[in-house]
Amino acid sequence: MSKYVFVVGGVMSGVGKGIAVASIGRILQAKGYSVTAIKIDPYINVDAGTMNPTEHGEVFVTEDGDETDQDLGNYERFLGTNIYSINYMTTGRVYQSVIERERNLEYGGKCVEVVPHIPEEIIDRITKAGKKADADITIVEVGGTVGEYQNMLFLEAARMMKMNNISDVVFVLVSFLPIPSKIGEMKTKPTQYAIRTLNSAGIQPDFVICRAEQPIDDVRKKKIALNGNMFKDHIISAPDIEYVYEVPLNFEKENLGDLILKKFGWSEKYNAPGLKNWEQLVSRIKNATEEIKIGIVGKYFHTGDYVLTDSYISVIEAVKHACWKHGRKPKIDWLDSGDFEQDESNLESLRQYHAVIVPGGFGSRGIEGKINAIKFVRENKIPYLGLCYGMQLATIEFARNVLGIHDATSTEINDQSPNQVIHLMADQVKNIEESNYGSTMRLGAYPCVLDERSKSYIAYKEKNISERHRHRYEFNNDFRQKMEQAGMLIAGVSPDNRLVEIIELPEHPFFVGVQFHPEFKSRPLEGHPLFNALIEAGVASMKPRLID
Ligand code: GLN
Repeated sequence: MSKYVFVVGGVMSGVGKGIAVASIGRILQAKGYSVTAIKIDPYINVDAGTMNPTEHGEVFVTEDGDETDQDLGNYERFLGTNIYSINYMTTGRVYQSVIERERNLEYGGKCVEVVPHIPEEIIDRITKAGKKADADITIVEVGGTVGEYQNMLFLEAARMMKMNNISDVVFVLVSFLPIPSKIGEMKTKPTQYAIRTLNSAGIQPDFVICRAEQPIDDVRKKKIALNGNMFKDHIISAPDIEYVYEVPLNFEKENLGDLILKKFGWSEKYNAPGLKNWEQLVSRIKNATEEIKIGIVGKYFHTGDYVLTDSYISVIEAVKHACWKHGRKPKIDWLDSGDFEQDESNLESLRQYHAVIVPGGFGSRGIEGKINAIKFVRENKIPYLGLCYGMQLATIEFARNVLGIHDATSTEINDQSPNQVIHLMADQVKNIEESNYGSTMRLGAYPCVLDERSKSYIAYKEKNISERHRHRYEFNNDFRQKMEQAGMLIAGVSPDNRLVEIIELPEHPFFVGVQFHPEFKSRPLEGHPLFNALIEAGVASMKPRLID
């Protein structure tokens, strides 16, 4: 019998609801229960795949090829398990299946209505996801903030689930408590209103997680408890912290895990694994003091006057995991590829980095800057990891500057060029012709066979690997032989040898480009083989440069 924890947001967005969900999951796992987590995004988009990263952050790709919200990445990283497509839903997706069913006469001639049919579909999806994961506890994150129109039907579904089985459902409100600088005091009123708003949707929160700059004190806990009709020890302090991976430990200090279990009539299992490995991780993070500098050359950084790093969150987390594994403190700089386009003297600044990454991307804006940066790191022997577009652009750079094919390009950039070293995958031609863009890329996990002479093989320590993909274009095999003759190693291919999945330059200390996205599979406790190898090469490159 699965239990459910619904997590909803109050007062404002962006206060770390996803991390709260992931952390609750982690502490319940530590108490011996199997956990899965579901993300609900209230927008109409059927998935996150068609959105620009500056709109919505990174598109996280699941093993089974869904293009989802970045929070699923947090769940995977904290829970250490794969989260599948079924654990992600949007308003668009819910309506789409209800409409499809109606068209298939599955409602037996009934009038299909927003209530109850939409919440019923939502409940159906939630319970199926819990079953698929064989979870004792399914945590459901309702996107958005209470009081907004968009997530009402999801709250209605949650209310109905609670009504049907009161002891199986717990509600957690993640709220924000401002400390206005002129007043200098933590204010609880917005949170009190958020609780009331939730009450008006028929829901009484069991816990409030109090996100704030500072820990919440006893006086204010009492105030929220009294006004919100709750127990004081169910008001959980959640102050800002430096590392998100500390959150489960902080929740445990507030006893949140046991309190949730108690609501279900459960308690910690006798053979529970505990949080020992997580505590070790956090102390490893805090003890890593010697810096290593990583440059990430991208273009999805700016939104208005603000710099947004959410677009590459899995890449950033993967880099951090690998740095911590090597006892180094990551110092990550976001480098706008545009800067390497207008003024090539800016490239000199790349010398300060121990490793450089060009992550995934789309379209032609900013690519010449990325290619210039890749040329610089190749020639100056700076460790390089190219992810998807970063691999394709490394191929183009090699073709242009090593093979001398000056107009080498990708079909994505120039479909008229005679030298498209990266071209559209054969099965994508029809999609492009028909403007059929939604969820039609090569998506999800595919196998790859490694060349035993490669650095990738040394990193993975195995010949057959599987990684997640998200692309339409690929390495053009017409150029394969020429590239190999000029010193490129085709280090990984699809099992039928048709698709080039990894390129390497054996002459370089570390120059690896991968057609897939290894960042999606990096976990904090172990790190990912390729990122670990990149950072190892970065650490090795520190010494000679110190002598310099
Ligand atoms: N734009 C490239 C393609 O579609 C690369 C995609 C990516 O980096 N995820 O193939």
